[in-house]
Amino acid sequence: MKRIALLGATGSIGRQAVEIVERSPELELCALMSGSSSLDGLAAAHGVEHVQVGGSAAELLEASEPDIVLNAIVGFAGVEATLWALERGVTLALANKESLVAAGELALAAHRRGGGLLLPVDSEHSAIFQCLEGREPGTVAELILTASGGPFRGRSRADLEHVTVADALDHPTWVMGRKITVDSATLANKGLELIEAHWLFGVPYERLAVVVHPTSIVHSLVRFRDGALLAHLGQPDMRVPISFALTYPERAAVPTAPLDLAAGLDLRFEAPDGDAFPLLPLARAAGERGGTFPCAYNAANEVAVAAFLEGRIGFLEIAETVAAALEQVDGAPARDLDDLVAVDAAARRAAERRLVPA
Ligand code: NAD
Ligand code: MG
Repeated sequence: MKRIALLGATGSIGRQAVEIVERSPELELCALMSGSSSLDGLAAAHGVEHVQVGGSAAELLEASEPDIVLNAIVGFAGVEATLWALERGVTLALANKESLVAAGELALAAHRRGGGLLLPVDSEHSAIFQCLEGREPGTVAELILTASGGPFRGRSRADLEHVTVADALDHPTWVMGRKITVDSATLANKGLELIEAHWLFGVPYERLAVVVHPTSIVHSLVRFRDGALLAHLGQPDMRVPISFALTYPERAAVPTAPLDLAAGLDLRFEAPDGDAFPLLPLARAAGERGGTFPCAYNAANEVAVAAFLEGRIGFLEIAETVAAALEQVDGAPARDLDDLVAVDAAARRAAERRLVPA
């Protein structure tokens, strides 16, 4: 029996994870956490004793002694749980990409000390993880992340000036939480994933590429030095990477419809448009600068997305806010979590100042 601490249990990933656990006789929930929604019903249904709404994840994790932490919290709030699991060598199934973006160096150091498994739940990274399994690192030429392009693919910057919150939340291929859905519309999600891939796979940015693939059938690819490309194909169904991480290395069955290859697959690819979607090149630049620039990028993006969802700013101002905040931080590396929390808070303040009309 694997005991799972499910953090972010009421969210899009969290609910799909519950479904995977319910199907598997080898998995059980030992702890549940959410930000504000009640967990009473879920805890009662699964006989879970360790339950927490808001606050610090560490106490819950200490008390419940999980075999696996599934971190499906949204945003920087997931950092504490990521560092907790990595430091102790407890298997971390990571959906919360923001924690690896913000805490990259600290997380890697904790992972080295803890020596446990770090299994990506993000579909692209799960795909790359699987394409890389058993390969010699020296044979890998490039990791290629696919992006659906979101609801605004093909639009110019001018076309994006008046798009609404409802337009941005209308994702063509994936049904997800609101924050990541807006991130998919701005391509900040792919920017965060670029930085996530850098830390997960230890590959420098010049060997990380992004390609737009509107049907989300190819979840990502790896190019090897002999020119061979290995790709991971499947339905856009997050239950697959969630199940892969929770049942690794067994790979349990998932009741997803098989791809009908003979029906013809639409495997188009195109280059991302960095002018219309500047949050993608901004993320790459923040990643390359290193230090706490990625943490600041993430913090400012969280503030800007929340402001957009509240109707306080327009779509194009999300990127403008992040760019302005990045200019106000020094990006000095964080020595510990306290340092990082201070950097995150400073970047949030810088972003908030930008939101207030001058
Ligand atoms: P969501 O908004 O649907 O759910 C977020 C969950 O986090 C909720 O349970 C919420 O209560 C909880 N939460 C929020 N603040 C919290 C806090 N301070 N402390 C504890 N819990 C808190 O989001 P989602 O779409 O499920 O995404 C979760 C994470 O997974 C994000 O990092 C996202 O980028 C990543 N992810 C999601 C998908 C997807 O298909 N939804 C795909 C890939 C990666
Ligand atoms: Mg993804």
